[in-house]
Amino acid sequence: MTQHDFDILILGGGLAGASLACALRGSRYRIALLDRAAPRLAEGWDARIYAISPACVSFLERCAAWQHLDAGRVQRIERMEIFGDAGGHIDFSAYAAGLDALAWIVEGSRLAEELWQTARRQSNITVISPAQPQTLQITEQGAQLSLADGRTLSAGLVVGADGVNSWLREQLGVAATQQPYPDMGVVANFSCERAHAGTAYQWFRDDGILAWLPLPGNQFSIVWSTPEQHARELCALPLEDFTERVAAAGGHALGRLQALAPAAAFPLRLMRVKDVVGPRYALIGDAAHALHPLSGHGINLGFQDARELADVLLALPDFRDCGELAVLRRYQRARVEEVALLQGVTHGLHALFAAQSAPLAWLRNRGMSLTGKLPFVSAAMTRYAAGLI
Ligand SMILES: Cc1cc2nc3c(=O)[nH]c(=O)nc-3n(C[C@H](O)[C@H](O)[C@H](O)COP(=O)(O)OP(=O)(O)OC[C@H]3O[C@@H](n4cnc5c(N)ncnc54)[C@H](O)[C@@H]3O)c2cc1C
Repeated sequence: MTQHDFDILILGGGLAGASLACALRGSRYRIALLDRAAPRLAEGWDARIYAISPACVSFLERCAAWQHLDAGRVQRIERMEIFGDAGGHIDFSAYAAGLDALAWIVEGSRLAEELWQTARRQSNITVISPAQPQTLQITEQGAQLSLADGRTLSAGLVVGADGVNSWLREQLGVAATQQPYPDMGVVANFSCERAHAGTAYQWFRDDGILAWLPLPGNQFSIVWSTPEQHARELCALPLEDFTERVAAAGGHALGRLQALAPAAAFPLRLMRVKDVVGPRYALIGDAAHALHPLSGHGINLGFQDARELADVLLALPDFRDCGELAVLRRYQRARVEEVALLQGVTHGLHALFAAQSAPLAWLRNRGMSLTGKLPFVSAAMTRYAAGLI
């Protein structure tokens, strides 16, 4: 067998790539985790907030990261209330579904920092950062990655975890179908007058989809996916006016609000990649798929990719080559259905609520309210969303 510098190169130390490295800690694999920059803790509260499903929390415990988070900065979602644009309403409760939490809210930079600390402590993981990849060569024997500092690293497998604009995917010539949404996602954090009691809210509105996600204390975070022009207009408003718009859009559900930092806006897109594996490569996280944030599933899909790929690699007998296509296809088969299903559902929901027709508005709101009145359906949906079925 060819001697390589490493068994696995993971390009991209975002949450997906760093969690894959941590899930493989202590294994026989020699891993290099590369990123252009190490995570930086946000000042105050990070504007990038994630709702992590209970199933992914278990995976992050296995990665030895979740249990080290400051518990005072993690918030449990106990209830979720969703409102349609014409009277529809549905709510989900962790208690009714027999769960501890529907999801857990955590700051992206804190979680990334914990994963990197875990990775740095492992003797089988080398963290290389800053790392700027220059060229990639794939041969029958392995992958060779050259870096801007003159180093060339070889491995049996290279994993692309370098986000939605993946450099690795481009170097490999792997096609991705991109469908930009006409919306941007506006994110911001607020303190609020009334206690949120662990409730997350989501409103399907004429001007987009607004989510309020509870943070510890009397604070919460928003993701407002709204047409680009409206998003830019919101971000350009003086902070007080923006805060008033957010409070009014949410029906003043938590009383008076105060912005904790200026808003930021991100472009949104649906991206499908057919070949997430090939000889000596695999793609995970946003490098492999992107979807509308309305379901809050983006990073949960990335963690599930990392868990599945780690499981396939860990189950491999010592004599098998981890970059073999037959091995990597096991990972692809395990993920393809779930990713396609979630992309289809979120895209369909977005289209359903974007349509302006009156009969459709009646149907979607009636459907939402009826679903909420069927306890078994609603409990099953809650458990599915939690990643438990
Ligand atoms: C507005 C908005 C709101 C969202 N809200 C949610 C939510 O509530 N819940 C949720 O689950 N998801 C949400 N998402 C999606 C979520 O942000 C992504 O799914 C997630 O960040 C993907 O993680 P990743 O590790 O795959 O990629 P990334 O986070 O993009 O990480 C990629 C890493 O690769 C590195 N990298 C990239 N290129 C190179 C290169 N050439 N050389 C070296 N390093 C490189 C980067 O530095 C980075 O560290 C949201 C997204 C948006 C836009």
